[in-house]
Amino acid sequence: MKVIEHLEANKGKTLFSFELIPPLKGESIKSIFDAIDPLMEFKPPFIDVTYHREEYVYKLRENGFLERKVTRKRPGTVGICAAIMNRYHVDAVPHIICGGFTKEETENALIDLHFLGVENVLALRGDAVKSEGAFVPEKEGHSHAINLIHQLVDMNKGNFLDDELAVSEPTNFCIGIAGYPEKHFESPNLLSDLRYLKQKVEAGAEYIVTQMFFDNQKYFEFVETCRKMDIHVPIIPGLKPITTKNHLNILPRIFHIDLPQDLVEAVEGCKNNQDIVQVGVDWAIQQSKELMAYGVPCLHFYTMGKSGATQKIAAALF
Ligand code: FAD
Repeated sequence: MKVIEHLEANKGKTLFSFELIPPLKGESIKSIFDAIDPLMEFKPPFIDVTYHREEYVYKLRENGFLERKVTRKRPGTVGICAAIMNRYHVDAVPHIICGGFTKEETENALIDLHFLGVENVLALRGDAVKSEGAFVPEKEGHSHAINLIHQLVDMNKGNFLDDELAVSEPTNFCIGIAGYPEKHFESPNLLSDLRYLKQKVEAGAEYIVTQMFFDNQKYFEFVETCRKMDIHVPIIPGLKPITTKNHLNILPRIFHIDLPQDLVEAVEGCKNNQDIVQVGVDWAIQQSKELMAYGVPCLHFYTMGKSGATQKIAAALF
């Protein structure tokens, strides 16, 4: 079933969903199942699985020269989605990124997903390769998420890259996209970012999942501005519980978001990590309760592969 159909079928109710990251290459899929098992009692209708692009690693050779190797540290998104659907009978939402892929490679990945019965995709541009300063599209790839949406919409109409195909069965993907209540970091301002967001919706995106935020006011203002700009698709809030002191610096650096001072002080005042987890859980529960009262269609949790804190939050809410 499509994400949008789940939201429609449960109108007036707030659903629970979450995101997982594939394990590091070489590790077992068991870590994914271990993260999902404690969350199944809260009946997630869909589970997102992130996509991780390739990275460059440098190895020192005997001759003293550095050799550059390209490696994907967290492969497996497509296989994990199929495994989730098979084992738990819930829908999986693979994240598909533009970075590192030609249009042809993307088309082939989407055909794999279609054949596996996956009906949802979160269409993203992806970030720059870690060692590069800015996002560089592949020569035959997409430069922005909107180009990927065009490709998905074309495939949903049965239009593939090779327009001379004798047979071309249409795919049936529901397309989600990312939104940034505190603006995407490359964007000159929020209005510019929202204009591109609107273009993505007009191109065929059916729902938005937000970047994590810790101050609900930012989400409320984002939704209200979107509505004023005639962006009317569901906007699912993304939430992340703080679980370590490092998050105070890591989350703003990686995700370009602000943390409220009250939260920062509460974390800084903790004597041990257990207390920090409790502060993070309590904060997310308060955020969630307010968002539910506002009428959000779904609460989407960024678990980063560890579901303990999300389990505590969900137990208090669902
Ligand atoms: P775009 O929509 O292409 O926007 C990127 C920037 O370009 C923005 O500043 C935007 O304003 C601007 N822009 C948009 N369209 C145009 C245009 N046509 N012309 C000029 N400028 C334009 N990354 C991963 O690598 N893997 C994941 O699994 C993943 N999952 C994510 C899930 C969520 C819910 C979120 C919020 C982010 C996720 N990301 C993931 C991160 C995401 O890939 C990055 O934030 C990336 O930098 C931007 O992706 P986008 O899809 O928003 O890009």
